[in-house]
Amino acid sequence: TVALVWFRNDLRLDDNPALRAALDGGFEVVPVYVHDPDGEGLSRPGAASDAWRARSLAALDDELRRRGAALHAFAGHAAPTLAAVAAACGASAVFWNRRYEPDIEARDARVKRELREQGLQAESFNGSLLFEPWTLRTGKGGPYKVFTPFYRAALTRWAPEAPWEAPERLPVPEEAPHGLDLAHLRLAPKRGWDGGFWSMWTPGEAGALEALEAHLDSALHDYANGRDRPDRAGTSRLSPHLHFGEIAVSRVALAVEAQRGRIADTHIDAFLRQLVWRDFAAHLLHHFPHTVHSNLDARFDGFDWASPNRTTLESWRRGRTGVPIVDAGMRELWCTGWMHNRVRMIVASYLCKHMRVHWRVGADWFAQTLVDADLANNVMGWQWVAGTGADAAPYFRIFNPVTQAERFDPHGDYVAQWLPELAPLPVPLRHAPWRDPQRLAAVAPSYPLQPLVDLARGRDDALLAYRRMRNDA
Ligand code: FAD
Repeated sequence: TVALVWFRNDLRLDDNPALRAALDGGFEVVPVYVHDPDGEGLSRPGAASDAWRARSLAALDDELRRRGAALHAFAGHAAPTLAAVAAACGASAVFWNRRYEPDIEARDARVKRELREQGLQAESFNGSLLFEPWTLRTGKGGPYKVFTPFYRAALTRWAPEAPWEAPERLPVPEEAPHGLDLAHLRLAPKRGWDGGFWSMWTPGEAGALEALEAHLDSALHDYANGRDRPDRAGTSRLSPHLHFGEIAVSRVALAVEAQRGRIADTHIDAFLRQLVWRDFAAHLLHHFPHTVHSNLDARFDGFDWASPNRTTLESWRRGRTGVPIVDAGMRELWCTGWMHNRVRMIVASYLCKHMRVHWRVGADWFAQTLVDADLANNVMGWQWVAGTGADAAPYFRIFNPVTQAERFDPHGDYVAQWLPELAPLPVPLRHAPWRDPQRLAAVAPSYPLQPLVDLARGRDDALLAYRRMRNDA
């Protein structure tokens, strides 16, 4: 008997519960990918994600071929496509790993129902979280809105599964519909704006494992201190690999846990905590699906967001605000598809507070440009910074980007890397070049002489809008 294994954001063979279930059930397997961006609703991937996925699917196909199988790619609505492929190869079952974004959950529920109505066995599994969104509950039985108790509950219940390795040969049926050449899915960008990505990233399961090993060998040793320093390679850079499921989060957690004794607990604990933030984001999105587009804190529905004009928004997107740490972050994002977490917070704060632009506008740009764009993490991150979300930074706590830069990029190396035109300036000026406009004009004539929004004025205006909202509420 034959089973389809439907690959989605679980682009790996090891620790893949759907593949494992098919093999344990004695099925011959047909690995399938269905290109259905319209069916993904608000989880429709952005351009940088597509560029990553193109390479990750190719890597998965290579790995499958090494094991005597291949990835069969199709384009179309998921349910009828899967049913047609199942009929064509005589499959009696379809297995996949669950996703938790609202539109995808709804789509997958429909797929499961329709396949079962056609007499197929349709089963889904947890392949991407330590704790699925419904497993951890508050004492009253409801969902968590605050991270720390969620984290404590996660630590008490933590029992990751032992790693599982896929067999060297996969049993496959004699015939299966060939499907489309992966290039026909047109995921890779036509104009090569992703050229800068691939010196930094290797999409696919092997690349994910390499990133984990590099992390265990280096950044993890000082993670609790280094994680806030964009001028160092102080974090794992596993986020796109985790988003696309090229490595199981349980494997990452176990590998890090196994370093106790070799690496100080503070670093191990700090890293595991971040993995739990990822679960927390999925938990929030599952229980509060409206937060994709609406504030979790409904008081902010009456907040006086500014209507962004095209030019100012474009200045933020392209890294031309005149605030170096913000511009460096936005250029890192454009060039590599990734941005350091501390800098994500700084650029988001500048947009939502100094520029008073709605967090959704920033979240949309991140969704297009990040290779790790993830609906749950992105929405939680933006709502956290904007002060509208769960357990969020209060709106009135406004990051001063210069103080942040001085603290987390103390030698100005990060700014110099992404804004080389400012490198000739001494460090204090590199973070606030408007303090000496003549010198700035001399070394970097094309860099803005003044910040797009003056830091003190932007802060005062934001606080005023916040006070008005509170008085009106
Ligand atoms: P590490 O520090 O090595 O952390 C390990 C893993 O833990 C990460 O790969 C990630 O999966 C998870 N993680 C770490 N921090 C967070 C966090 N704050 N929230 C949720 N999970 C976390 N992360 C995304 O994966 N996709 C996004 O679209 C995304 N958008 C964000 C938007 C904003 C405004 C902010 C402030 C944060 C956002 N984050 C997002 C969270 C975080 O910035 C990235 O996960 C992190 O920078 C990835 O780098 P890393 O893999 O080196 O992280």
